[in-house]
Amino acid sequence: MTRKKQTRGQCTYCKKTYAKSGMLRHLPACSQRLEAIKEADEQTGANEYIFHLRAQDAWSGDFWLDREVRGSATLQQIDEYLRAIWLECCGHLSRFSLGGGWGSEEISGKRQVRQIFAPDVELTHIYDFGSSSETTIKFVSMRKGKPTTCHPMALMARNSVPEDTCIECGQPAAWLCMECLYKTGQEGLLCDQHAETHSHDNYGEPVPLVNSPRTGMCGYTGPAEPPY
Ligand SMILES: [Zn+2]
Ligand SMILES: [Zn+2]
Ligand SMILES: [Zn+2]
Ligand SMILES: [Zn+2]
Repeated sequence: MTRKKQTRGQCTYCKKTYAKSGMLRHLPACSQRLEAIKEADEQTGANEYIFHLRAQDAWSGDFWLDREVRGSATLQQIDEYLRAIWLECCGHLSRFSLGGGWGSEEISGKRQVRQIFAPDVELTHIYDFGSSSETTIKFVSMRKGKPTTCHPMALMARNSVPEDTCIECGQPAAWLCMECLYKTGQEGLLCDQHAETHSHDNYGEPVPLVNSPRTGMCGYTGPAEPPY
């Protein structure tokens, strides 16, 4: 689905919402985030490089995550996070590569973020080699200091659920019919009422719309909640 407007998202520090590109300008300036960093940096312990990485779905770009990731975190930990918040349906295989496409060289999940990411570096993550979900992960910036969390990474911002409307009546959509997509190429976005009366059932009942680019793919049903 291609929208003219960028999706908006919420900053986890100050809870304000910004458009996708505006968030990249906001995060380095967010006073509540800067406060959290200052507090972390006052703690004892070694400094390390911490990376701002943006993940987004490669198809529409409507789904995006800004995370601050420790340089010592592994790609496998990034994979685990992506599975938890967006992707996991039936334990499919996944892979990272530098650049897109199947021809590109696979990068081991054991590699650390600091060994891979630098300005202009973008990785591609593919989950499920059949009905694949493709995510790009891009270097935004890095800082030297202490992490604001005990986890390998912190969620700084994510897109809000895209505001879709029912194809029948224009009310807010909460369901997705995959048969519409296969038959007409149109996303079968439906409100509660029209999801009940919708006639398609060859690909199962309409599935609930959740905040994940994998909605409607394979057996994915959400919940699309961050693991931490
Ligand atoms: Zn903020
Ligand atoms: Zn699956
Ligand atoms: Zn409707
Ligand atoms: Zn349909």
